[in-house]
Amino acid sequence: MCVTCGCDDGAKITVTNLQTGHEEHMEKAMPNHQHPHDHDHQQGDSHHHDHSHEHDHDGHSHDHHTHGHAHEDHDHHVHGHDHASEPAALSAVAGLHAVTIDLERAILDKNDRLADRNRAWFEGREILALNLVSSPGAGKTTLLEKTIRDLKDEIAISVIEGDQQTLNDAERIKAAGAPAIQVNTGTGCHLEADMIRRGLDSLKPAFGSLLMIENVGNLVCPALFDLGERAKVVVLSVTEGEDKPLKYPHMFKAAELMIISKIDLEPHVDFDLDRCEAMAREVNPEIQSIRLSARTGEGLEAWYAWLRATQRRVSLPAA
Ligand code: MG
Repeated sequence: MCVTCGCDDGAKITVTNLQTGHEEHMEKAMPNHQHPHDHDHQQGDSHHHDHSHEHDHDGHSHDHHTHGHAHEDHDHHVHGHDHASEPAALSAVAGLHAVTIDLERAILDKNDRLADRNRAWFEGREILALNLVSSPGAGKTTLLEKTIRDLKDEIAISVIEGDQQTLNDAERIKAAGAPAIQVNTGTGCHLEADMIRRGLDSLKPAFGSLLMIENVGNLVCPALFDLGERAKVVVLSVTEGEDKPLKYPHMFKAAELMIISKIDLEPHVDFDLDRCEAMAREVNPEIQSIRLSARTGEGLEAWYAWLRATQRRVSLPAA
């Protein structure tokens, strides 16, 4: 995941309010781990740190041990079993693996706590927050534009857009008639709960409204990061492979609804809708499915009916 691939390291996040033009910057600080810099311990060097973190670091980049901050969330520094008798390379790999797992856990735990706060905030205001996820180009923004144009007189809708770069999608949303925040994640491949918090502070969605969060286009990492949403909605277009649910099962397991988009193109592509839905149910028997085309309007009523029904569940006390 992200911690392993490093896409998130030191990411510069920008949160832009399209209504006010206000721009805010966030530093993506990793818990218990500052922005990595190179550090040049060579394999087999006999350097020892102050605490019992004895495995060697053969050139990988991390510097948590050189900072005096507390390691309250994890304990990689106390698992100091002696690697001295092991080959240095093996010892280094084991150490890196342990640190990586601890970092992943710390990052996800911290995100989950913030997501719970967002969720409570939404519940208190009877806001239906949905997290839209897909590959790039599946049609999330187009679906949102259409939804806003069709429903804005019925329900207040606001949008938090996530993309690595550009304000393009938030500008499209604004043009469709809804307030929009653009979160640019820089090198990051997903939105996180703290970015949503910042977006909400600026967006101030109304009581009882609908908040659409369009995640960064990616079927992998966004599955792991809870934003505090009521549900994830995964959008899969017929121009993609129908076996995406099997290839990216975590995302389809995490989603409550699958939207198969661009069905107007179905006659031109080899995409078996029934097979796709069967595969999605294979990884998530509870998943619901709606087939639609934002371009022709086919299937949109089913999507709107789902939104209304889900909205009612948010505004009614749990039965
Ligand atoms: Mg988009």
